[in-house]
Amino acid sequence: MTKNYKHIETKLIHAGEPKPPIGGAVSMPIFQSSTFEFAGQTSYHDIKYIRLNNTPNHIALHQKLAALEKAEAALVTSSGMAAISTTLLTLLSSGDHLLAQDCLYGGTYDLITKDFPAFGISFDFIHGDDPDSWKDRLRPNTKAVYVETLTNPLLQVADLKAVDHFGKTQGLVSLIDNTFSSPLNFRPADWGFDLSLHSGTKYLNGHSDIVAGAVIGRADLIERINRRLNHLGGSLDPHACFLLHRGLKTLAVRLKFQNQSALKIAKFLEDHPATEKVNYPGLKSHPGHQRACELLDGFGGMLSFELKGGVERAERFIKKTTLPIVAPSLGGVETLITRPATTSHSGLSPSERQRLGISDGLIRVSVGLEATEDIIEDFGQALKA
Ligand code: PLP
Repeated sequence: MTKNYKHIETKLIHAGEPKPPIGGAVSMPIFQSSTFEFAGQTSYHDIKYIRLNNTPNHIALHQKLAALEKAEAALVTSSGMAAISTTLLTLLSSGDHLLAQDCLYGGTYDLITKDFPAFGISFDFIHGDDPDSWKDRLRPNTKAVYVETLTNPLLQVADLKAVDHFGKTQGLVSLIDNTFSSPLNFRPADWGFDLSLHSGTKYLNGHSDIVAGAVIGRADLIERINRRLNHLGGSLDPHACFLLHRGLKTLAVRLKFQNQSALKIAKFLEDHPATEKVNYPGLKSHPGHQRACELLDGFGGMLSFELKGGVERAERFIKKTTLPIVAPSLGGVETLITRPATTSHSGLSPSERQRLGISDGLIRVSVGLEATEDIIEDFGQALKA
């Protein structure tokens, strides 16, 4: 049962929790059972079975996630890419056309550009800052518009209010990948989005120990996506459900710290003479700063930057750091550092990366929960090297 809790911090702890607690357990128990006793269900989709995403662990998570974004419904999936691919393959069929923001997570970009043509789904890219140009890309068969809250890895902030307006006036389903902001910093349903997508692997879980995904939004669409997910099979295992559920409870304390820490680190980097450019929406110098202030409750824990001296200097810096772990992915308790050209965006050709403004020397940081001063000190000594 989900009560109408007022604040997100309270929802993280209490929304969706079974009442009374199962067996009196304070933590949601793991229902490690693939199948459940038949209870006379009349629809295949209502039979209790892990792949059908309806065990007690799934249901509690669905209710909690929907409450966090003040949305009608939610669905967990086996990965962020399962959430994205299953959702798009529910909304789009052969002959349909998608409008997508031009700078996207590499996996999503690859799915759209490399896999969709084989399914007969066409696409065009739009620039998030230029709503006047979006109409020119519309086709009679355009069905949906897809953006990211903060783009990966450049942290751009699209004109999200215009996306909602455009979607509504043109009869398109509006989708947003809200992974980088999480429901703590941005709630897409409040701004009119039909669906929000997450890699639950990142901030939602927060501990770099599972891969998971989520789709949150309009109940009619979630029901259709759930049916497609039942057939495509990308459901989340109950043990991973348990870990995601546990991780979610500390989202607010984790991300509030990360919001503050990333801002201090971004300011330190911006003031450092070795730095060419810092991308962080909390900086006044960021082109999307005003928009970010209006839309977001926090600027997030992700930043990227370029050093004077390009790839060679970037590699030297990364090697000299001692605290961050050199790894892709993000949103965990440990600070991670990577060059997107070699990891998250290595699937793009060098010319595609260049066109999007992702230089080979760009360094991306996922700020963890270490003392901010320790990270700054470590970055400082690595920049001197
Ligand atoms: N969306 C964004 C913004 C991401 O950064 C990622 C992964 O890095 C994904 C989606 C895909 O998530 P997953 O790795 O859980 O499939």
